[in-house]
Amino acid sequence: SQGRVYNFNAGPSTLPLPVLQKVQEEFVNFKGMGMSVIEMSHRSAPFESILENAKALLKELLAIPDDYETLFIQGGASLQFTMIPMNFLQPGKTASYALTGQWAERAYVEAQLLGDVNYASCARKGSYSRVPAPDQLNYRASDEYLHITSNNTIYGTQWKEFPQTGNVPLIADMSSDILSQPLDISQFGLIYAGAQKNLGPSGVTVVIIRKDLLQQANSNIPSMLSYRTYAEHNSLFNTPPTFAVYMLGEVLQWVKDQGGAHEMAKRNEQKTALIYDAIDQSEGFFQGRAEPNSRSQMNITFNIEYEQTQKTFLLEAEQAGFIGIAGHRLAGGVRVSTYNAVSYEACQAFSQFMIDFRRKYH
Ligand code: PMP
Repeated sequence: SQGRVYNFNAGPSTLPLPVLQKVQEEFVNFKGMGMSVIEMSHRSAPFESILENAKALLKELLAIPDDYETLFIQGGASLQFTMIPMNFLQPGKTASYALTGQWAERAYVEAQLLGDVNYASCARKGSYSRVPAPDQLNYRASDEYLHITSNNTIYGTQWKEFPQTGNVPLIADMSSDILSQPLDISQFGLIYAGAQKNLGPSGVTVVIIRKDLLQQANSNIPSMLSYRTYAEHNSLFNTPPTFAVYMLGEVLQWVKDQGGAHEMAKRNEQKTALIYDAIDQSEGFFQGRAEPNSRSQMNITFNIEYEQTQKTFLLEAEQAGFIGIAGHRLAGGVRVSTYNAVSYEACQAFSQFMIDFRRKYH
């Protein structure tokens, strides 16, 4: 359709075709206003309603309780690695980080620049084939927060159950699995996610924060790095990434039309089962990287034993129209990202490609 490939990119990644088409249709002249969304003032009534619409849809689709604020921030998930300790790690206090992958490590390294941080779990360097059981985490009751990465994009692991941290706020980087399944937001003090996987284009990062934490945040920091600034100005303190916010709203509307987070979870399970089954039924030809009980519903990682065969696999896959499946340079191997907008049909075609490839090269 439209010459589009099977796009398994890890992010930015494929978006729903109907969303792209609607945005294309509205691009030059948005709703008869004689201008594009990207030409519109961020203080205008139409843009304000675009922003409110995106916020309202997130609230509805993620069942965000009233005591949480939703913010739109630039700088990607990576800026959150800095903003979190800057806002919450007061001098003389500590925070803990579960080190479950490269992005968790990055968050930890940034926090180390600003305060006293410990790791709550740490896999053998470079392995990261599982996430810890919630009760294996080593954090302190006096920590200002515990930071986790709900889905480890590079290694293909995902938390299935979150730690019950009581009075210690749980902070989660959900960049690569937000809105892939229903979520109990009340377990978390703060959730953040760069939009460019499940939510839309890059340029906007969604932050969902419990209001009492906003009150406790450090107030002696630069405005643009303070969560309070975004909360007090409805994410309009300065010019937000207007086009990204608009597209976020369109993707959210698509998710809603499809049936919401429950439906996404159901489809993701069906999609990933096709590929995990091809791994599990390959008698070791395809070797899953993640331990089965930590397997991600968003990024499927595996290796093929002989390097040459793996190279051939990647090459033939690309020739067959499967794009973006080479593993991250840190992990190697194969990685297939199956975000919300990736179709069942794409996963079915890829799973069949795996089966056929194995028959040919086994
Ligand atoms: N966290 C996770 C889990 C990610 O997958 C990524 C990007 N792949 C990042 C953080 C970094 O995001 P950004 O490029 O938006 O800073």
